[in-house]
Amino acid sequence: MRTPLVAGNWKMHGNRAANRVLLEAVVRETETLGGVECVVCVPFPYLGEVAGQLAKTRLVWGAQNLSEHSHGAFTGEVSATMLAEFNCRYVIVGHSERRQHYGETDAVVAAKYAAVLAQGMKPILCVGETLVQRDAGQTEQVVARQLQVVLDLSGKKSLENAVLAYEPVWAIGSGRTATPEQAQAVHAFLRARVLRETCILYGGSVKPENAAALFAMQDVDGGLIGGASLVAGDFIAIARAAQHKG
Ligand code: PEP
Repeated sequence: MRTPLVAGNWKMHGNRAANRVLLEAVVRETETLGGVECVVCVPFPYLGEVAGQLAKTRLVWGAQNLSEHSHGAFTGEVSATMLAEFNCRYVIVGHSERRQHYGETDAVVAAKYAAVLAQGMKPILCVGETLVQRDAGQTEQVVARQLQVVLDLSGKKSLENAVLAYEPVWAIGSGRTATPEQAQAVHAFLRARVLRETCILYGGSVKPENAAALFAMQDVDGGLIGGASLVAGDFIAIARAAQHKG
């Protein structure tokens, strides 16, 4: 039995005052929202403050990135131990924006995934194809490779403590969502390569209007939500759609 999960990725948005207001509204609703785990992945500078605000609430927080190194002369980087010290629960790794803009290779993503696990946190591993790759019929090949490099390093059993997110690059922040059938096809392909209990999220322009149809798909266990996670009402509506999954 997989518990549905909805994770917000705030990306590089927010400020202390706005975060507080947003989280107050989300916490108010999530306190009584059963059957779905809700997570917010916030920018590094706000981690401590968010951890304080969310203590003793049902809303869980995570980070959006980390260093693959444990410590040392890596100016500007943040380690897994630093995140764990704040009781961080989830860390996004392999987001396409990091692969695209910061040159993160599959090997670096695999090392980050291992670093998260080593500190007892859960990686949210993102995989997904570009539009060029989809049009060339390479979707399965691309996501299989991205996943396999991680499993080669950490083993399939590691997925007991991890979440997978299928995020077609062409659907992220574009307003263009994969159809439920397109998402399900890739999720089913991934399902065959992970554990039955592995939670597989869909990410890419999920909104209150399309969430229920996506989450109704058999192998879509929730969502990784970018833009819509910045609007409390939208994020909650999406969480409710996941709650009613099945
Ligand atoms: C994301 O950032 O992971 C994402 C899915 O963004 P959006 O929902 O805005 O497409």
